[in-house]
Amino acid sequence: MSYYEFDINTEITYLKGVGPRRAAALNKMNIFTFYDFLVHYPRDYEDEREVTPIDELEENTVAIVVGHIYRIESRTVRNNLTLINAMLRDYTGTVKVTWFNQEYLMSKLEEGMKLVVKGKVSEPFGYYNKYYSITVQAFDILDEDEDPNLGIFPIYPSTANLNQKFFRTSMRILLDRLPTMKEMLPSSILSENDLISYDTAIRLIHFPRSRMDIDEARRRLAFNELFLIQYGLILLKKKTQDEELGIKHKRNGKLMKAALNNLPFELTGDQQAVLKSVITDMQKVSPMRRLIQGDVGSGKTVIAMLALIKTVENGCQGSFMAPTEILAVQHYEKFTKLLEPLGIRVGLLSAQVTRSKKRRAEVYEKIANQELDIIIGTHALIEEGVQFKKLGLVVTDEQHRFGVAQRAKLESKSELTPDILVMTATPIPRTMTLTVYGDLDVSQIKELPPGRKPIKTTVRHKQGRKQVYTFVRKELEAGRQAYVVCPLIEHSDSEKMQEISSAEEIFDELSCGMFKDFSCALLHGKMKPKEKDEIMQAFRTNEVNLLVSTTVIEVGVDVPNASVMVIEHAERFGLATLHQLRGRVGRGSDNSYCFLISDTKADVSKARLKIMETTSDGFKLAEEDLKLRGPGQFFGESQHGLPDLKIADVFRDVNLLLKARDSAEVFVQDEDNADSMELLNRHLSIAYGDKFKQIFNN
Ligand code: ADP
Ligand code: MG
Repeated sequence: MSYYEFDINTEITYLKGVGPRRAAALNKMNIFTFYDFLVHYPRDYEDEREVTPIDELEENTVAIVVGHIYRIESRTVRNNLTLINAMLRDYTGTVKVTWFNQEYLMSKLEEGMKLVVKGKVSEPFGYYNKYYSITVQAFDILDEDEDPNLGIFPIYPSTANLNQKFFRTSMRILLDRLPTMKEMLPSSILSENDLISYDTAIRLIHFPRSRMDIDEARRRLAFNELFLIQYGLILLKKKTQDEELGIKHKRNGKLMKAALNNLPFELTGDQQAVLKSVITDMQKVSPMRRLIQGDVGSGKTVIAMLALIKTVENGCQGSFMAPTEILAVQHYEKFTKLLEPLGIRVGLLSAQVTRSKKRRAEVYEKIANQELDIIIGTHALIEEGVQFKKLGLVVTDEQHRFGVAQRAKLESKSELTPDILVMTATPIPRTMTLTVYGDLDVSQIKELPPGRKPIKTTVRHKQGRKQVYTFVRKELEAGRQAYVVCPLIEHSDSEKMQEISSAEEIFDELSCGMFKDFSCALLHGKMKPKEKDEIMQAFRTNEVNLLVSTTVIEVGVDVPNASVMVIEHAERFGLATLHQLRGRVGRGSDNSYCFLISDTKADVSKARLKIMETTSDGFKLAEEDLKLRGPGQFFGESQHGLPDLKIADVFRDVNLLLKARDSAEVFVQDEDNADSMELLNRHLSIAYGDKFKQIFNN
């Protein structure tokens, strides 16, 4: 294929050596095009640059030696074990090399042959401990005048059907065909940040010649990735600011005043400040894009409710998207109770509604005709058929479960550009808010409503379980309620099965044992929404006293009478998650308790859990989590809405992220960058495809 014919979006089947079977395997890895393949970066490298002279071998290292065979024999040790032993000699010494169970090699290998062998060096043997021995990991037969193929070799994420050899060979073929990639960043940014060219980086990341090549390539590509996202977010923000179609809400009128007067409590200082920002945003023409961050129970939902009332007062509709069915229903009930007296019509749109075609059609129609003012729902809200008549405000709760794209989709459900309010209890560190929410203004609620007593948290070894549950009994006897949370034990194949069995076992143990005389219930992710609702409802009304559950009891579930939470296998949860879980108790006026049960022996895990005893600051816990567990574990879930990063790491690359953000901000101001922008836009759409289009084109 000649230069000008090259298209990076070509389907991967057009790559030499990729037939339908391999293409299918690649598709499974989310590799569909040349581009996808190109950014299938190595997860590591094998450094095979140096041949070690035999007399310099060291025990317990992996080494490469080159030598001649001067004796070879095969030996059957047991039924299922044959060895081939060869003595290999170079000009410095002799080493014994061993292959396990590869008898067929006897017909290929013979005395006098030149070999290159890679393997692990183990203890000396023979008279006077003369020789080391090497267990062969890889080898090659060389011609007499041939040198071994040395270098640094990429190790790719692979699957059973696609081995390293395939990836290496195919990547070389692709890179050979790949024309020089145009540079998408202006040279000023390259020199300021000391970056190598994109073309060089993309080649070196696959086939580096040195450790430094790897570092430089990785740095450039990580910068590129972060820059692209920042650039995209700036475009997004700019687009909404330029937007003439935003809704200019009027100053607070009667309805808002009545709602504020009717609140059963005084807003805290933080709540007042956040509410003020929200109201100010809403009264501007440009659409609001605001994130409220605050611990579970800090009172975010009240603010959202007031904002929704404001939009209704302005003749608009509002929607509130919750991450789960249970939460949607709970909010729906609460809102209905508070808002119907004010004459506001509240509707619910969730799986239990949409399952019935008739009811779904009814709700859709009411939304379209503005016979409902506020619609509370789950993902069902962003389904195809939902069309609002006049959507003024979109609230999404626990945004980290919704990607940016989903948010954009909800925005597109109305002709006017609605205001947007995002709420999250995830204590995302500042640096991360930049990447995830780069297009949003951030408000924080740090202060908890008055009268909350801190939750007394205790870490207990498994041996202390009995005592813990004895304590729980006492609370139940006093009329209060308890949660027992069991982790999803991760086993790749039977994840769901395990989740159920661990919770089920504990449920059986408790409900048939110590808590026989109480009403216990089990809640897990595999139940039908209706079942879940019924159980939650029963727990809310104290028909169920003790609730055993997996983490389906979602952040935000509000049962003030629940005063104890026991978390089993606590070491399996991230601190941020533990913190959110325990936020479900301590909502009433009673003292409340959280027990973390763990039999972990690892010091790191113990130290981590101990932190829970001493602090109730979600942000601090998140930072600690990062320090101790590393980034991958932070959210513990994959649907966190973080952009799908291929090479950058928002934690490790914080400095790079900040630089990328600064550069991107300066970059968009400069009209001389038009050419670069065009390339970047194209790259954005290649890298993020439909998602990008959804965000920027509608
Ligand atoms: P979040 O959404 O941040 O988890 P909520 O808005 O659900 O928190 O508030 C948790 C509980 O605290 C609710 O029962 C709510 O009525 C109550 N609450 C909220 N703000 C205050 C306040 N300023 N004073 C007293 N109680 C409050
Ligand atoms: Mg506005």
